Amino acid sequence: MDSASAVEIIGGGPAGCAAALSARHQGAPVRLYETSAFPRHKVCGEFLSPEVPEILGELGVLRDFEAQKPARLAKVALHFGARTKSWTLREPAWGLSRYALDELLLRRALAEGAALVREPWIKSPRRDDHKPGIRRILGHGRKSAAPAGARLFGFKAHFAGPVDDVVHLFFFSGCYVGVSAVENGITNVCGVVPEPLLRQKMLREKMLRQKNFEIESLLEADPALRERVLPLARTMKWLITGPLVFGMNPDPEEQVYRAGDALGFVDPFTGSGISAALVTGKMAGEAAARSTEVSRYVRRVRAALKRQYFFSSALRMAIRARIAEKCAGFIPGRLLFELTRPANSL
Ligand SMILES: Cc1cc2nc3c(=O)[nH]c(=O)nc-3n(C[C@H](O)[C@H](O)[C@H](O)COP(=O)(O)OP(=O)(O)OC[C@H]3O[C@@H](n4cnc5c(N)ncnc54)[C@H](O)[C@@H]3O)c2cc1C
Repeated sequence: MDSASAVEIIGGGPAGCAAALSARHQGAPVRLYETSAFPRHKVCGEFLSPEVPEILGELGVLRDFEAQKPARLAKVALHFGARTKSWTLREPAWGLSRYALDELLLRRALAEGAALVREPWIKSPRRDDHKPGIRRILGHGRKSAAPAGARLFGFKAHFAGPVDDVVHLFFFSGCYVGVSAVENGITNVCGVVPEPLLRQKMLREKMLRQKNFEIESLLEADPALRERVLPLARTMKWLITGPLVFGMNPDPEEQVYRAGDALGFVDPFTGSGISAALVTGKMAGEAAARSTEVSRYVRRVRAALKRQYFFSSALRMAIRARIAEKCAGFIPGRLLFELTRPANSL
């Protein structure tokens, strides 16, 4: 093998760690910047789509993943008020907290020889942004801003109580909330809510700024959701993130390889953000180590994610227009699920 380029990676989430592992597998020296101390909780539904174990296998972390005993999720139930559309997945999906997943990925990347720099990477001309011979991967997650008023926010907490093998998604009033199991009998409750609803429900501007949301009252707004959550007891503080801005904007002129949410953010109800982060991280790590042209890398990731982005944004429009229930009625659940996955040809 020709000697691989040195790789610098910004961000140690799923995209950054997948990039670190694949670049190491190509023999590249890797430096990984991560600002947070792991393990740490993160706002996420923690639903891992059926293709994730295969990708983890390619990255050499399948055993570490299985050792965490992720929850096995066999069914999906979409709740629209009193109506439910449910189906059994062709292959099981999995539930594992980001506390466990991100930690195991980072550990493995370090065990494979990546060097961790535990500090924020800050773009600066003084820092020599174009070091000769060093390829840079941006895996720093979402960096989005949106005008106040119509923003979307995400929230999440863990609960103890009865678990099932169903991924429940409750759609109401332009927002949605997912309820599904992760490891150790824990249930994840995670949702996306538009700012006007948050304000109208229970938030004053001051509380929004302080990220001090009373999410429980939001959960009570939908009877089916209230019933599912009633037997559960919250075990951690609500975490909030936002604003959430969807879309993919890779720039082939930019001489960096973007991966995961830094490349584009897909609506969380698809449950495919982590798989897309792992897939694009893996592609970015290989491309950077082999010094593949960025424009070529961008063409490949665009092709891989095109279908997923198209159908996710169509569904987002349907949710916003509050016609998701009618649309979902016509489309078979399995097809709906498969249309929002990244392409398999990765
Ligand atoms: C409400 C919500 C629910 C979701 N639910 C699901 C789900 O159920 N299933 C699913 O597959 N996806 C879900 N997603 C999407 C998923 O969380 C993301 O797609 C995934 O986290 C992307 O991984 P990433 O590595 O690109 O970014 P991140 O996970 O955000 O990781 C980026 C890392 O970079 C670090 N970092 C940032 N800036 C710097 C810097 N300057 N220097 C050093 N380090 C830095 C951060 O500390 C972080 O650890 C959800 C998202 C939201 C908002």
